[in-house]
Amino acid sequence: MPRRPPLALVLLGAVFLAGCAGQQPAAAPVTPSAPIGSAQSSVSPSSSASAIPDPAAVGANELGVVPVLMYHQLKPHPRDVYDITPAQFRAELNRLATEGYVPVTAAAYATGRMDIPAGKHPVVLTFDDSTRSQLTLDSADQPVAGTAVAILQEVAVAHPGFTATATFYVNRDPFAEPGGRRSLGWLHDHGYEIGNHTIDHVPLRNLPAAQVRNQLAADAAMITRAVPGVTVDTMALPLGMRPKDHRLMMAGEAGGTAYRNVAAFLVGAGPAPSPYSRLFDPTGVPRLRSQGRTGQDARFASSLTLDRLAATPSLRYTSDGDPATIAFPKAEQARLSPARAAAARPY
Ligand SMILES: [Zn+2]
Repeated sequence: MPRRPPLALVLLGAVFLAGCAGQQPAAAPVTPSAPIGSAQSSVSPSSSASAIPDPAAVGANELGVVPVLMYHQLKPHPRDVYDITPAQFRAELNRLATEGYVPVTAAAYATGRMDIPAGKHPVVLTFDDSTRSQLTLDSADQPVAGTAVAILQEVAVAHPGFTATATFYVNRDPFAEPGGRRSLGWLHDHGYEIGNHTIDHVPLRNLPAAQVRNQLAADAAMITRAVPGVTVDTMALPLGMRPKDHRLMMAGEAGGTAYRNVAAFLVGAGPAPSPYSRLFDPTGVPRLRSQGRTGQDARFASSLTLDRLAATPSLRYTSDGDPATIAFPKAEQARLSPARAAAARPY
């Protein structure tokens, strides 16, 4: 009788297939010199300030997988598989908080700068297409009740340590605001990351190189015009389609604007590898679809993966509480990226 492969290998296989379609050569280690993202300093009180516990005692595994959740619109009666109700969104956030997850930005994940307390698990919340159900501000500059940002802020208040942060992948005139100055400025001021989703939301697969550069540079230019001094560090691919030359996603220049992304995020369909893993591929980071468990593509529902990770906690990324080290059980050693060896803390 052939033996069934362990669940860990099945999950990692899914990650590998989703993240590495098209097989790229190993990317250079990501070592940006400038601070990445706006939310770093607002991540929960620095765990490095207190005593670092024994990694075995907290079950640290910083080579485990990280859920990167993908959201689109919140609607009372979703008709599209990518949309969910405000109540479903709130329930998913409450579940994440209860299960010990702490939100980090996409940039913090991709660079491996995730300063979260020992025993906690990072989760990345991403929102595509910059729609009004994600963020609408009232006349007092408060997020309108029922929008994704308002719900996230409420859940963060109810669960101390559950940081209100996320990454918004925006297009032209984000959140129905010409130029996006007010909405993008608000997001930046409140510790959210603003990422590139192309200016016109066009799939990049069949575009000539010059147009790929135009789309990414124009979106980056819009964001930096709206929020002077902000950096745009990550992108999400419209419809998950990468350009034929993957290098075009990661860096380029057009119209006098240079852009540089430390990671590009796909659509679906599994948990993302640890950024310290050999499997981490910045040119195609998989995301989980937040969607119902029935109907089209229900097998991709984020809740199914969260169920699996809850049932087998050793698969999950669990922090050791020390952002300077990468702690993991010795049995996981083979999964460590050689580029990260200097920080390794096997136990
Ligand atoms: Zn989109």
